[in-house]
Amino acid sequence: MKIKSYAAMTADAPLELWENEVGPLQLEEVEVDVDYCGICHSDLSMIGNEWGISHYPLVAGHEVIGRVTALGDAAKNKGLKIGQKVGIGWTAKSCQHCDECISGRQVNCASGVPTILNKGGFAEKVRADWQWVIPLPEGVDEAAAGPLLCGGITVFKPLLMHNITALSRVAVIGIGGLGHIAIKILKALGAEVTAFSSTPGKKQAILDMGASHVVNSRDPQALTALAGQFDLIINTVAVDLQWQPYFDALAPQGKFHTVGAVMKPFEVPAFSLIMGDRAVTGSSTGSPGQLRAMLRLASRADIAPQVEFFPMSQINEALDHVKAGKANFRVVLKADFA
Ligand SMILES: [Zn+2]
Ligand SMILES: [Zn+2]
Repeated sequence: MKIKSYAAMTADAPLELWENEVGPLQLEEVEVDVDYCGICHSDLSMIGNEWGISHYPLVAGHEVIGRVTALGDAAKNKGLKIGQKVGIGWTAKSCQHCDECISGRQVNCASGVPTILNKGGFAEKVRADWQWVIPLPEGVDEAAAGPLLCGGITVFKPLLMHNITALSRVAVIGIGGLGHIAIKILKALGAEVTAFSSTPGKKQAILDMGASHVVNSRDPQALTALAGQFDLIINTVAVDLQWQPYFDALAPQGKFHTVGAVMKPFEVPAFSLIMGDRAVTGSSTGSPGQLRAMLRLASRADIAPQVEFFPMSQINEALDHVKAGKANFRVVLKADFA
């Protein structure tokens, strides 16, 4: 069988329509017809081989919404049905038998396979092991839901790790694809939310999403005034900033948590951690149980990413739009294969 996709043939090349001859569905695999796929910054990083793990032809795309079309023999009695609406995120496979997998923390499996390296969602069909094919609950807007599967879970996970409740004071650095979903989830949880944004023009939109406060992150005095305020600060940006004012903005027991892949090492003075029992933490995406919990919350609390649509056939234009920082706030591709 052949699967049509948009592939990078070499690092950073424009994507080309590519028909890939695929073998039979593996035992644990589920095949999904792609309806929508979000564009995440990690797609750009993988297309450009920035992390040194890409191999080509590379089919990126890991914020998939689609329908189950085939089940491998070992995936047939796992609660998924042909025609069911599902989502697939960053991970496509995990070993199912290491300590992390057995403990329900499959995202940390050392043998995990990213969806992109299993041929990802910029395609008419995508495959993943059944555990990572997440049923879409009723009431989730399927056209907009794709970005929840990577961007959403990436910012939801720190809220679980750090026991965030309605009593928590949480700040989010960078209100783009990830940050805006964080604001919406935190609002649903009832937390007090402060957004740090370097784009004053976004202020009203961020308040409308549910932020209690919007602070201009380019204003050093505004940051200094927030010393000792936050139980959790989530960093979603991948660029190096002056971090010290943010460490100073942590309350006692506060956590500075990065999901942004800042390549320059953080310089954290020991006293920023020692005084007040503070910590710096990080995480990637989430495990299947956490993905399911997040989608249940999205359904119940009506959380939908704010997205712009492009037809998948205009994928190179869509990628350029994201690269240029113009996404408002996330781009979703609608599959339009002939
Ligand atoms: Zn494992
Ligand atoms: Zn992603």
